[in-house]
Amino acid sequence: MRAPAAGAPPAAAAERPAGAQSAEPLHTARWWRAMPDGRLRCELCPRRCTLRDGQRGFCFVRARVGDAIVLTTYGRSSGFVLDPIEKKPLAHVLPGSTILSFGTAGCNLACKYCQNWEISTSRQFETLAAPATPRALARAAADAGAAGVAFTYNDPIVFAEYAIDTAVACHEAGLLAVAVSAGWISPEPCKELFGAVDAANIDLKGFTDDFYRRVTGGRLNDVLDTLVRVRELGTWLEITTLLIPGRNDSDDEIAAECAWIVSELGAEVPVHFSAFHPAHRMLDIPRTPASTLERARAIARDAGIAHVYLGNVRTRDGAATRCAGCGDLLVDRAGYRVADYRITPDGACPHCARPVPGIWDPAGPPPPTGQWWPQRLAVGA
Ligand code: SF4
Repeated sequence: MRAPAAGAPPAAAAERPAGAQSAEPLHTARWWRAMPDGRLRCELCPRRCTLRDGQRGFCFVRARVGDAIVLTTYGRSSGFVLDPIEKKPLAHVLPGSTILSFGTAGCNLACKYCQNWEISTSRQFETLAAPATPRALARAAADAGAAGVAFTYNDPIVFAEYAIDTAVACHEAGLLAVAVSAGWISPEPCKELFGAVDAANIDLKGFTDDFYRRVTGGRLNDVLDTLVRVRELGTWLEITTLLIPGRNDSDDEIAAECAWIVSELGAEVPVHFSAFHPAHRMLDIPRTPASTLERARAIARDAGIAHVYLGNVRTRDGAATRCAGCGDLLVDRAGYRVADYRITPDGACPHCARPVPGIWDPAGPPPPTGQWWPQRLAVGA
């Protein structure tokens, strides 16, 4: 059974789950079904929470109200920030542009090292103080001169209905929609969420199921399936692996990950290796040294991966885009800023004419504004 269409009021919305905003209508969720024993099973992610009336799912933002599961954070955000698109990170999508970034609350994973744990583990719905309809978000992005809207900070999987509606509004306004996600999602909603956006950066948090189970609470194979599906959808895909000393940074694990990417997704999917810093429940592990990221880049290049980026550390050339054919420098970056841009208007290397995969503006990057990032934005409802 498919849930009622999104937007319809739940059958019994009188009993609000604890913590839900009292002034906001609850938004009927999609992707759930009734079980023979009377419980409702959420089918958005592989966790498949089964809920009795009044119960919340693991992600906390989906709850059963009467005969429906509702999304309690539709239309509400923890704030809006104008970010450089490089920060998502996306290296092959309109370099130098800005993107209106926002998240809500909650997460379907429980990463012990979550860098945004205040948002992902939030149970304080009063922190979602910024109401905004999908159209208001698209309008605000356009008014700010942004390339589009990014769903980030917490995983858009848990607010998929809101993200999809916002992606539609962005496209109506001629803007991009971007998802930054851990990719732990069921097949059908995967197609709908990632099919609605233009580009995604998906975390591949490690390459053993043991790491996924112990450190994130998810499952490796589900995420690999998502990566293959997103690639098949034609949505622009980049991958990020955060390397944690002693946990997921062995040569063998990195080599296995890179070999899988080359064989299942193709050598031209950009891969970002980024540095861990102590956070949340992993405060006893040191920062990842730059040498680890450089070692990972060497392994990835040996495996044939064409575009490798290093994040959260300053390294020589770690953020630059080079031609996969002749090695010419195509986009030079200083931090999140584009310092030099040489891709041709038709998206190729000016030296050897090899096409560079990605989403490029024939006019090149917008002129730098001199503005320091991030800028907080107010978005009207
Ligand atoms: S999206 Fe939330 S409620 Fe649904 S199965 Fe996943 S964790 Fe449970």
